[in-house]
Amino acid sequence: MLQAPQSGDDIVTEQEQEWALETLAVRTGHRRTAEQEHSEPIFATSSFVFSSAAEAAARFSGDSQGNIYSRFTNPTVRTFEERLAALEGGECCVATASGMSAILATCMGLLQHGDHIVSSRSVFGSTTMLFNKYLARFGIATDYAILTDLDDWRQRIRPNTRMLFIETPSNPLIEIGDIRALADLAHAHDCLLVVDNCFCTPVLQRPLELGADIVIHSATKYLDGQGRAVGGAVVGDRKRVGEEVFGVLRTAGPTMSPFAAWIFLKGLETLSLRMQAHASGAQRLAEWLEAQPSVARVYYPGLANHPQHALAKRQQTLPGGIVAFDVHGGRDAAWRVIDRTRMLSITANLGDTKTTITHPATTTHARLTPEQRADARIGEGLLRVAVGLEAFDDIRDDLVRGLAGA
Ligand SMILES: *Cc1c(COP(=O)(O)O)cnc(C)c1O
Repeated sequence: MLQAPQSGDDIVTEQEQEWALETLAVRTGHRRTAEQEHSEPIFATSSFVFSSAAEAAARFSGDSQGNIYSRFTNPTVRTFEERLAALEGGECCVATASGMSAILATCMGLLQHGDHIVSSRSVFGSTTMLFNKYLARFGIATDYAILTDLDDWRQRIRPNTRMLFIETPSNPLIEIGDIRALADLAHAHDCLLVVDNCFCTPVLQRPLELGADIVIHSATKYLDGQGRAVGGAVVGDRKRVGEEVFGVLRTAGPTMSPFAAWIFLKGLETLSLRMQAHASGAQRLAEWLEAQPSVARVYYPGLANHPQHALAKRQQTLPGGIVAFDVHGGRDAAWRVIDRTRMLSITANLGDTKTTITHPATTTHARLTPEQRADARIGEGLLRVAVGLEAFDDIRDDLVRGLAGA
């Protein structure tokens, strides 16, 4: 069986096992070439050559490990994969063209016709679309549970359920799911727990240590952190990720390019510093918003009144960089807040150095019916801010301008 050309034994040396996350993020995965480069090189090559016919045959059969073709083996991509695997504490990582293709490849690699998924209701819109519109066509059905309600999950599991899928914190209300409890529930029913760790990154939360089986990333967000490229990754064990998910990548080809991999692996080097700065800005902003008369409610797990404040403290090192809040006055007021700001970027993206502001009800969650939105408590007055790395006072001053319109 041809495997992803990496293994836990190779990627984490004895020295690396003792390194802290910040050190792993800077140094893991780069094997210096004969050129003695200091920064990681971009291997812009589609294929690799063999020293003999016999070596070519051995590579193709899997008897010898090494580069073959950049759809599935590229040294720059591998450096990113090994680095992210080390940060998440996983045996293996497979990089993908986008976060969505990471989810698709995971489902294609680990599920089959007749299987059933229970997903959190509060997942990325395209994830819901992938499950309902595309996986359903191939005989994989999905039910949706309330992220924070374990009984609801329990009741939705069927004999053919093979995967529980969550994002935590959720978007846009920043609710927290209990990874350890859901992992226990999954394993009691012969299911895998898959966690989309996009909002937290391994700096704030390491789902594999809490019992999850697979971690998904949209590298597009915080891993790059500077809004430059689209990419994704799947992290887990050698069999499921290194063979099954890798097999989908090798065959179907939603691969990360070496150029994108280079951007992401340089992004990882500053990830810890950036996540701390995003989280400290978000905490200050949440506390400031709570004191504003035009704000009805603030959703941020770093606030003591957040329903899962204690769980967030246990499960995450920091509450994260995203804050949501309701303004009085519904959609008109919320839109006025957005339109009166001058610096914040009006975009649905997140995980950027630049602070972004979004009206979920008419953008990211516009495809839901009004009843579904009401069910999910995504009101017309709800705004989401993904706090960037600008000076806090400038972000606050822009929201002062915005809230004057509410
Ligand atoms: C953006 C996002 C995705 C999809 O990632 P792409 O890189 O845009 O394909 C998946 N999950 C979450 C939580 C996201 O925010």
